[in-house]
Amino acid sequence: MARVYNFSAGPSTLPESVLAKAGAEIMDYNGSGQSVMEMSHRSKWFDDIIKEAEVLMRELYKIPDNYKVLFLQGGASAQFSAIPLNFMNGSGKADYIITGQWAKKAFQEAQKYGDVKAVASSADKTFSYIPKTKPEDFRDDADYVYICMNNTIYGIADVSSCALSEPLDISKFGVVYFGAQKNVAPAGLVVAIIREDLLGNARDITPVMMNYKIQADAESLYNTPPCWTIYICKLVLDWIKEEFGSLDAMKAHNEKKAKILYDFLDSSKMFRGTVVPEDRSLMNVPFVTDSEELNAKFIKEATEAGFVNLKGHRTVGGMRASIYNAMPIEGVEKLVAFMKAFEEANA
Ligand SMILES: *Cc1c(COP(=O)(O)O)cnc(C)c1O
Repeated sequence: MARVYNFSAGPSTLPESVLAKAGAEIMDYNGSGQSVMEMSHRSKWFDDIIKEAEVLMRELYKIPDNYKVLFLQGGASAQFSAIPLNFMNGSGKADYIITGQWAKKAFQEAQKYGDVKAVASSADKTFSYIPKTKPEDFRDDADYVYICMNNTIYGIADVSSCALSEPLDISKFGVVYFGAQKNVAPAGLVVAIIREDLLGNARDITPVMMNYKIQADAESLYNTPPCWTIYICKLVLDWIKEEFGSLDAMKAHNEKKAKILYDFLDSSKMFRGTVVPEDRSLMNVPFVTDSEELNAKFIKEATEAGFVNLKGHRTVGGMRASIYNAMPIEGVEKLVAFMKAFEEANA
């Protein structure tokens, strides 16, 4: 069967050239006579892979030298607990901005560990906008402020759904982290970028696997890391560097791609985007028609035509096209052509 266009929110589509390279190296990685899946995480081959992944990550994100780059497990969701355990270590207070389901989950988890305040939330309109905040909303003695996306305040940011899709000024954050399965690698890996001076004050009860200082001192090799996933991450970083050269170029490409879909949604009489225009994402594009029946028909026919995983998140319904870095422009062009034809046929 031909490859489909996969609009899944995660795990999600990977660059074909990366899959081809991984395929070509699957029996014999670089003359080792083994697959990366099989080799020791203490081997020279793997050591080179994880070090190169870090170098590329630092280069693309322009990560300052006083930040550690950690390759961890447990998904972004494990960080929801690790963050309060490691950083809610002064007043025991933290302020959270609730921009969506993931921020809400992180907030709920943090409540187990201290005095956690929801500073602002867009839950009133199913997270279809980013809530505005003022400096006085935040508590002076909060140990940290938590947000789920890129923003320009000091704090901790979950950027899982936009990782490496555009530049981000890491120096504005204490911690930036992302689950890799959205934009960077298969599932099983979380990358955490942490300012060094924040390390070393975890609570005594912190599980050793969640202690960022221990992970940093062990250079992400405290125990067996997800070797294969880190290897694919490295190939994806190579791909970004070779195809685009920088995250500025990656962003320009993503803007061009997202515009094709948003322009169509704004002109269509049948489909419309659900997020307010100023807060639209370059990566995840939720949209609906005015009828549940038509939504279901669209998803079914799109799937048959090779546009898969367009069903929206269960809490929102409708459709969602995730158009991460690896989704080619032609995938979006063909989807729009299909949507136009569907609109005409069902008008
Ligand atoms: C997908 C996602 C998560 C959850 O990731 P897991 O690795 O499955 O725990 C958390 N935050 C954001 C922003 C996400 O997009």
